[in-house]
Amino acid sequence: MAGIAVLRPLARAPARRIVRTYATAIPAKAHHRVVVVGGGTAGVTIAAQLQRNPEFEKKDIAILDPAQTHHYQPGWTLVGTGLRDLNDMKRHMFEVIPEGVKHYPLKVSTFDPENNTIKTAEGVDVSYDYLVVAPGLETNFAGVAGLEQALQDPASQVSSTYSEKTVEQVWKNIRDFKKGQAIFTQPAGIIKCAGGPQKVMWMALSQWKRDGVRDNINATFATGAASMFAVPKYSQALEDLRKERKVEGLFQHNLVKVDPKTKVATFKNLAEGAKGALVEREFGFLHVVPPQKPWDWVAKSKLADAAGWVDVDKATTQHTKYKNVFSLGDASSLPNSKTAAAITSQAPVLVDNLLAVMKGREIKGAYDGYASCPLLTGHNELMLCEFKYGGVPKETFANILGGQEAPSRLFYHLKKDFFPYVYWNAFVKGTWYGPSGFFRPNTTAS
Ligand SMILES: Cc1cc2nc3c(=O)[nH]c(=O)nc-3n(C[C@H](O)[C@H](O)[C@H](O)COP(=O)(O)OP(=O)(O)OC[C@H]3O[C@@H](n4cnc5c(N)ncnc54)[C@H](O)[C@@H]3O)c2cc1C
Repeated sequence: MAGIAVLRPLARAPARRIVRTYATAIPAKAHHRVVVVGGGTAGVTIAAQLQRNPEFEKKDIAILDPAQTHHYQPGWTLVGTGLRDLNDMKRHMFEVIPEGVKHYPLKVSTFDPENNTIKTAEGVDVSYDYLVVAPGLETNFAGVAGLEQALQDPASQVSSTYSEKTVEQVWKNIRDFKKGQAIFTQPAGIIKCAGGPQKVMWMALSQWKRDGVRDNINATFATGAASMFAVPKYSQALEDLRKERKVEGLFQHNLVKVDPKTKVATFKNLAEGAKGALVEREFGFLHVVPPQKPWDWVAKSKLADAAGWVDVDKATTQHTKYKNVFSLGDASSLPNSKTAAAITSQAPVLVDNLLAVMKGREIKGAYDGYASCPLLTGHNELMLCEFKYGGVPKETFANILGGQEAPSRLFYHLKKDFFPYVYWNAFVKGTWYGPSGFFRPNTTAS
């Protein structure tokens, strides 16, 4: 695909600054010292942290990502619940690619780690000295029969915060719903932001209370999981809230089909002894979180583990077989909760270990599995769940503010106002480290 002209404006948002453009040709072949697959939260953060690291000599990084837009996905919950505007949650890719880093708008299709090469769907071969794999995961809307059709029909009362294309409909449906059966689903298996499915529910209930219609609405939380949350401390607090707020809990029920015409949702009962029985429920409002999985082209590659994730060491983020390959974020096999917050802790570890490999040193950086789920429980309240591997709480503010299972107004404003600001102004610029704020943590295993 030689000679594709890429418009690369030098400035930020066209509306806000003067834009100059110049054309870059994509060669049929390219070589870079570091190639990053995916320009999402993980890919851009790694490129930014590496680029500004004084130990990184001969700076030559290329990001491969066909997308022209970069999304702050944690903001979609805010958009779907009417708290923020969708435009605040996205930027043109050229606004977030770090200065001096090349962006090829190419779709990676094959890894050839024996020859340190990547092939793209456009027919370009890109070779590397070091590779960082961060293409996220696939949100599988086709995994629920009838869901794609239902989401395309605004009259279906079916919506989802899990895509930029469907998120604005969520808020419209919440505002319009006045009485009847509301169902909020969570699929079985690994998803990004495990608290995402219920954040929407708590906010919708809060909105319906504000509108004076809560008593006319029956709410059901239908989840493929056996409990409200994987970390026992927060799960118990959320279970108490569920009972107190009179929400039906349909546990181990996995949504398999939606009929937008009859307004019936079908669930498979996963409980032992239920023999996968199908359960039908009528709805007037349905919020769906689709099943999620590794990309097929990643799962089929030599880099994948048996489940299809990029097979890396859970502490070092280094590939278990190819020592010049690293991975982080949603695509990786790191067994943490898949969140942007986790990337703030993974990224400095990966950078330190990558630099160690480059310089022939022993790799010592270790990731402890930190992840965070800022769980909105209503207007002006949020439970800031923070934990590490093994479901062990690792709470940043507990010593000052007490246990973070108690919803707080301060945390609500962190999520609604501070985190989006810090994302665009520091996170993707490589200067934000989550729980340690603007201070780069010591990543060496203790
Ligand atoms: C509704 C929702 C709410 C969330 N809430 C929170 C929250 O409150 N807190 C939190 O910390 N996290 C939250 N998350 C999770 C968080 O957004 C993700 O964990 C994070 O975005 C993962 O980053 P990533 O870089 O691994 O993947 P992504 O950010 O998804 O980026 C992947 C990139 O890879 C690119 N790509 C895909 N295929 C290819 C290919 N073939 N070749 C090249 N590039 C490719 C894509 O275009 C994309 O740019 C939420 C997510 C959702 C959807």
